[in-house]
Amino acid sequence: MGLDEDSLEYHRSEPPGKIEISTTKPTNTQRDLSLAYSPGVAAPCMEIHEDETDAYTYTAKGNLVGVVSNGSAVLGLGDIGAQASKPVMEGKGVLFKRFADIDVFDIELDEADPHKFVEAVKMMEPTFGGVNLEDIKAPECFTIEERLREEMDVPVFHDDQHGTAIISGAALVNAAEIADKDLEDLKIVFSGAGASALSTARFYVSLGAKRENIQMCDSSGIITQARADAGDVNEYKREFARDVPEGDLADALEGADVFVGLSVGGIVSPEMVASMGDNPIIFAMANPDPEIGYQEAKDARDDDVIMATGRSDYPNQVNNVLGFPFIFRGALDVRATEINEAMKVAAAEALADLARQDVPDAVVKAYGDEAIQFGPDYIIPKPVDPRVLFRVAPAVAQAAMDSGAARTEIDVEAYEEQLEA
Ligand code: NAP
Ligand code: MG
Repeated sequence: MGLDEDSLEYHRSEPPGKIEISTTKPTNTQRDLSLAYSPGVAAPCMEIHEDETDAYTYTAKGNLVGVVSNGSAVLGLGDIGAQASKPVMEGKGVLFKRFADIDVFDIELDEADPHKFVEAVKMMEPTFGGVNLEDIKAPECFTIEERLREEMDVPVFHDDQHGTAIISGAALVNAAEIADKDLEDLKIVFSGAGASALSTARFYVSLGAKRENIQMCDSSGIITQARADAGDVNEYKREFARDVPEGDLADALEGADVFVGLSVGGIVSPEMVASMGDNPIIFAMANPDPEIGYQEAKDARDDDVIMATGRSDYPNQVNNVLGFPFIFRGALDVRATEINEAMKVAAAEALADLARQDVPDAVVKAYGDEAIQFGPDYIIPKPVDPRVLFRVAPAVAQAAMDSGAARTEIDVEAYEEQLEA
């Protein structure tokens, strides 16, 4: 059977779907039930009525994330609608649970209007310790996230924007080290100027890249000042408009240090790769087919290319699952009010740092016993590496405390030990 038929069977076998709710306290006796519900439940209600932060003490809020979508940009499937997006959102819940023991309510909202969508999500603030926005199309996703971040007091994180930014950012830090280049000198070319590309470009600046060294291309070519002045690009792309001659991706790539592909498969040729500078860094992350294949890019150079893709069948898979479970874990555990830039940078640096350390045998075994060692073919940790949890979550928690986003202080060393146990 093929993957499609296997997946349909996986989802429809009893019970349909792949998640359920379970209880965490005794429910056997009449007494248990009168604690769980009326009349006993009135006591925690009144505590929370007096002090809202008690919701973290007496309810599941502090371990509960809302995965919220309107189904307008689902995987590579496009605008398939809220109902059809539910298997993806339930799947996101599976990953949160599997990797960080975080519970999820998946919320599919049948609402295309960003204003109404924002109002609906805001109203759910009492329910959740955090909100993971998912698969919402650009440019609406930018306004939606901006407004919710401002107006809500729990973390709001649009994973399609920041996940890729953070994981590929970790890869960039390490690739630059291997290529013996400084982040601030890197000449970086983006293909794509959508949700993930724009936020990735902004994040690289937070990591130390220079905005003036970034050139961005969309489907019409380089985003130039002239195009911006002519009103040819939206306000988000305008942020990266450069005062350079009009041209296409091939023009932009000549002599570049880094290619970041967040567009469509197959648009980069071996000649374009050959025209890049020494030790070029190529992150071809279009899914399912990268802008240029791993082998094709390697063959286009004399063994000096550092390559990452979104695929699991080649080295250096940029996979969001390396980020969101652990970023939310750290944020929830200090009852954070937001996931800010400092927390994202801390996550990327923790990932980069982890890839430089020896890899445990269990992880090596899971990947077919091939030696895994820091170098061009291992610049980011593997998704199944259990150490990602206890390195990234504490780093995020610490950054939350340092940046004033934490509602509660924790001892980070004890926390790391507790996660490891
Ligand atoms: P998006 O918001 O729809 O943006 C797509 C961008 O690609 C747009 O800016 C579009 O240009 C541009 N584009 C389309 N055809 C192009 C071409 N021939 N040449 C240059 N640019 C072209 O999509 P997204 O959510 O950012 O995702 C983009 C891609 O990245 C997808 O393939 C997605 O699977 C992949 N992705 C991978 C990861 C990962 O590996 N972890 C994570 C996120 C996204 P216009 O603006 O002119 O339309
Ligand atoms: Mg997504």
